[in-house]
Amino acid sequence: MKKIAILGSTGSIGTQTLDVVRNNSDLEAVSLAAGSNIELLEQQILEFRPNVVSVWKEDKAKELKEKVKHLNVKVLSGMDGLIACAAEKEVSTVLTAVVGMIGIRPVIEAIKAGKDIALANKETLVTAGHLIIPLAKEYGVSLLPVDSEHSAIFQCLQGERQNKIAKILLTASGGPFRGRTRDELKNIQAEDALKHPNWSMGQKITIDSSTMVNKGLEVMEAKWLFDVDYSQIQVVVQPQSIVHSMVEFEDGGVMAQLGTPDMRLPIQYALYYPERRTLPGERLDFYKLSQITFEEPDMDTFRGLHLAYEAGKQGGSIPTVYNAANELAVSMFLKKKISYLEIVDSIEYAMEKHRFIENPSVEQILEAEQETYHNLEEKWKREEE
Ligand code: NDP
Ligand code: MG
Repeated sequence: MKKIAILGSTGSIGTQTLDVVRNNSDLEAVSLAAGSNIELLEQQILEFRPNVVSVWKEDKAKELKEKVKHLNVKVLSGMDGLIACAAEKEVSTVLTAVVGMIGIRPVIEAIKAGKDIALANKETLVTAGHLIIPLAKEYGVSLLPVDSEHSAIFQCLQGERQNKIAKILLTASGGPFRGRTRDELKNIQAEDALKHPNWSMGQKITIDSSTMVNKGLEVMEAKWLFDVDYSQIQVVVQPQSIVHSMVEFEDGGVMAQLGTPDMRLPIQYALYYPERRTLPGERLDFYKLSQITFEEPDMDTFRGLHLAYEAGKQGGSIPTVYNAANELAVSMFLKKKISYLEIVDSIEYAMEKHRFIENPSVEQILEAEQETYHNLEEKWKREEE
C-alpha cells in the first residue's frame, strides 16, 4: 500500500489526484489539506477516510471538526496543520497542489521528514528552488514533477542519465489570446481569460496561462528541476496541447512526450514512478488529429514570459517578486480592481522597485513577498487618488 498526503485536495489537481486514488486500490490518501472548502473536504473524508486533515482557516476547521466528530479523523488548521499533514508518519509521498507560496514551508518540512515530493505547486520551486533542491539531495528524497510539461521532460529523460541535455523545448498552448496584439488585450475581462482552449484548471493558473506568466513560472521551474541554463530553455507554442514538452540532446536527437491533455497521467506517473499503470481515458487518435503545429511565442505582447527569463536570470529574491506581484495582481484582476494588462505591468513595476537579496532564506522570501504586496498596494492607492 502506498500512502500519500494531498495538500490542496479540494482543488483541480487535488480532486484529480483523488480520482487516481479511486482507480488504484493500492493507493491510500492518509492526509488531506484544504483552504476553506469544508463541504468538499467533508465528502472526501467520508469517501477516503484519511487519518488527518487540515483546513487553513481556524473557524472553518472548528466547523468541520463538529461535523466529522463521529469519525476517527484528526482535524487541524493553519500552517501547523498543513505541515502536520505533509509530515504525517505513515505518508511516503506528499503531493503538493496548493496554490501559491504557501506551499514552501510544508514542502521543506516534508523533505526533512524523508518524504518524496510530487510537485504540482510550481510557485514553491520558483521562489525557493535554491533551498529546496539542495535539501532534497541532502535528505535523499525524490522530487517528482506533476506539472504536465515537466513530467513530459522527465519522461523524455528516462534512460538518458549519462546524456547531457542540449535544450529543453517547453511547450505552451499560447492560451486563449494567442495571436492577438497588445491593443486587443486592453479590455479583456476575467470571464474571457478564464476560458482555456485545452485544459481545465484552477482560476489562478488559468489566468496565468492566458498571460503566459504560467509559462514564465514553468521556465523557472524547469531550470531548478533539470539543472539547465536559461539559454537552454526554449518555449515553443504548440496550440493543440498534444506535445507536452521535448528534450533535445547533444546529437540533435529530440525526444517528445505526447498525450491527450489529462493531468491524471502526470499525477499518476509521479505517484508510481518508474512504473506505468493503466489509466482509463481518451487516447490520441492520430488519424483524427491530422496535424500538430508549432509557433514562436510573441514575447512583446506576452511580456510576462520575457520578464520571467529576466527574473530567473537575475535570481535571488527576484523570482519571488515576480511570483508575488503576479499572485496579487491576478487576484485584483479577478476582483475587477485592475485591468488585464496591468497584471504584467504590476510584475514589471514590482521587479524594478525591489531591493535585491542574493540568496534569500525562507524568512527573506516571505519578506520579499510582503514587500512586493506593499509596493503594489501603495502604487494602486496613489493611482486612485
Ligand atoms: P486550485 O485553485 O484548483 O486549488 C488550490 C487548492 O489549494 C485547493 O484545494 C485550495 O483549497 C487549496 N488551498 C488554497 N489555499 C490554501 C491554504 N492556505 N492552505 C491549504 N490549502 C490551500 O488550483 P490548481 O489545482 O489548479 O493548482 C494547484 C497548483 O498546481 C498550482 O501551483 C498550479 O500552478 C499547479 N498546477 C496546476 C495544474 C492544473 O491543471 N490545475 C497544472 C500544473 C500545475 P480550497 O479550495 O478549500 O480553498
Ligand atoms: Mg504546466
